[in-house]
Amino acid sequence: MSLTKHVPQRTCVGCRQQKSKRELIRVVRAPEGEVRLDLSGKAAGRGAYLCADAQCAALARKAKSLNRSLKCNVPAEFWGTLAERPVHSDVEQMDPADVEQTPCRVLRAPDPVTERSAR
Ligand SMILES: [Zn+2]
Repeated sequence: MSLTKHVPQRTCVGCRQQKSKRELIRVVRAPEGEVRLDLSGKAAGRGAYLCADAQCAALARKAKSLNRSLKCNVPAEFWGTLAERPVHSDVEQMDPADVEQTPCRVLRAPDPVTERSAR
């Protein structure tokens, strides 16, 4: 039994630094061959990690280290999606506006007594 909480470390394919999984973006090559971002961190397939940093993405692209990690050719569109993705903290934060737009309505069945007396 270990008393210290183990934080899994992964290496960024861009800067080659080890960071905790939470700080990294997982890129997955799905079993059907599609390369995409895995924001859940749990998608099936071969995974690689990148910092949430455009510089690391650029490095990984230039050095083709992501291609090597995933053992496939990362399509240009993928790098486009990566560049457009919001910064890490935005992904993890729930937009409060979304929550407020779904009001919790209590639906009550019409009271049979009231309905009868109203007639
Ligand atoms: Zn990095």
